Amino acid sequence: MTGAGGGAAAPLIIAVDGPAAAGKGTLARRLAAALALPYLDTGLLYRAVGRRVLDRGADPRDAAVAEAEARALLPADLDRRDLRGPAPDMAASAVAAIPAVRAALLDWQRDFGRRHGAVMDGRDIGTVVFPDAEVKIFVTASADARARRRFEELRGRGVAADPAQVEAELRARDAQDAGRSAAPMRPAEDAAILDTTALGIEEAFAAALALVRARLGRDSA
Ligand code: C5P
Repeated sequence: MTGAGGGAAAPLIIAVDGPAAAGKGTLARRLAAALALPYLDTGLLYRAVGRRVLDRGADPRDAAVAEAEARALLPADLDRRDLRGPAPDMAASAVAAIPAVRAALLDWQRDFGRRHGAVMDGRDIGTVVFPDAEVKIFVTASADARARRRFEELRGRGVAADPAQVEAELRARDAQDAGRSAAPMRPAEDAAILDTTALGIEEAFAAALALVRARLGRDSA
């Protein structure tokens, strides 16, 4: 074993959870680079399963189809370029509410983290996937701020979008993710809450790194 996740102790896991467009992906990726840890965007797994179900022309709420697609998932599915947008967003959230889909993806996520440690972002990393993670950060921001960021991100990619629709979609997905009975999105009891509503990217990253250092109780992180 190597780097920040190495040594005789269990590999270092940093869980970064939170609602859509709160900035957790950017933060998690930067933390991983700063700490020399592998990074996993677990949302991609659910997105890829949702995509496969849509490709079959099936309903993402169909538990049998969604579980079969989760079990058939291939690494290449995560590299697809059509995993984002209103339809795949909602399909991901729909398949993610199905317990058998979550079960099918659980070992994959744990194996990834146990190999060399990891910074993982998602909704249930600190509550279900790695409840013993050394560091848990729940990244959040007001729905307004998140909708604005998602809208700007879409505009930056040249995608035409209606701000009101972007906000409605975000709120619907959050409600579904927080309201489901299987691994609902919620902060772990021992998570540090990082509200990025009033923070720029650099400030948010500095705050996240400070939280990591405080949790690890060392200055070398
Ligand atoms: O993070 P991202 O927005 O890409 O996630 C897409 C969807 O995947 C979420 O809306 C959520 O329903 C699901 N998800 C999940 N658990 C995770 C990561 C994502 O349920 N750990």
